[in-house]
Amino acid sequence: MKPARFIAHFDIDAFYASVAIRDDPSLAGKPVAIAGSHRRSVVLTASYEARPYGVRSAIPLYRARELCPQLVVVPPDMPKYKSVSRDVFAIFEQHADAVEGLSMDEAFLDFGETTLDDAVERAQSIRAAVLESTKLTLSAGVATGKLIAKIASDRCKPNGLLAVAPGDEESFLAPLPAKSLWGIGPKTAARLETFGITTIAQIAALDDDALRNLFGSWGRDVRELARGIDNRAVEPDRETKSISSEETFEYDVRDEKQLIAALREQTRDVVAKMERENLSASTVGVKIKRANFAVFGRQTHLEEPTRDPRRIFRAAVYCLQRAHLNGAPVRLIGLRVASFTQGEPKQLSLFISPTVSP
Ligand SMILES: [Mg+2]
Repeated sequence: MKPARFIAHFDIDAFYASVAIRDDPSLAGKPVAIAGSHRRSVVLTASYEARPYGVRSAIPLYRARELCPQLVVVPPDMPKYKSVSRDVFAIFEQHADAVEGLSMDEAFLDFGETTLDDAVERAQSIRAAVLESTKLTLSAGVATGKLIAKIASDRCKPNGLLAVAPGDEESFLAPLPAKSLWGIGPKTAARLETFGITTIAQIAALDDDALRNLFGSWGRDVRELARGIDNRAVEPDRETKSISSEETFEYDVRDEKQLIAALREQTRDVVAKMERENLSASTVGVKIKRANFAVFGRQTHLEEPTRDPRRIFRAAVYCLQRAHLNGAPVRLIGLRVASFTQGEPKQLSLFISPTVSP
């Protein structure tokens, strides 16, 4: 067998729900949804038993309860998920040349130049190691490119492995809906449909003129991808560009004190994340969603980067005041920090000691 570059995509099956069921065996076999107890909560993850009822992530919790009255709702436990995630990523790191995390439970792994058999064997041993260490199942897609690896892992869920052999890329993609291609969102897909284009095979067959008309300068890339040519590399350690924390209120808030209290809590949250990644920020911004869903923000630049919670909080309150809400109802408030530098700059003023005379 000819060696090729292989990439695997791994994704834990129903991550939050699987962790809940693992730790409470009385939930096994029941339709479970992970969601806050909030009036406006949405489902974060649904167990496979809940999915036949139409319960899935991102639908409102009240809707999920309508669809499945016997649904068991479990609140999320983020610290626990983070700790499981660290264990799983440690296993990924041991088995791959490079790991690109996409979320807490999802990553691309670069297996380098190897044979299909070896790539499949490595993916299976990763699945076995994760199962042994965390008691969780994950699905894997193995292919010569990221797009197909990701589609493959999705199509063999739960607890599956699907490999696409080198040379089979185009035929694997051909029957799939056009919107499975990266970059083709619902809007583009709807426009393509007006031209009778619904499958990836039809995109792969377009001539240069049609490509230009449909996709502009991006056309040839789309066709390459549709033909299974996908040379994007696994990019490890993607730089953190910003860190944020936000809260949707149960009831719209007009009281500035309550908004400030939310910002105080969010400050603690973003500072903890900055400490974990050893970052300091020099941009602080506040995002506001009004009761009418209009979203806007205010941001400010600090003279020097910091992760001092007092300075970040003061800057956030300054941004809030510059938003001039004047008691308008607010549905969501969020804090965001950006423009990072590594480390924690010394704040000299704190270390100036009084002069001691001899
Ligand atoms: Mg997952």
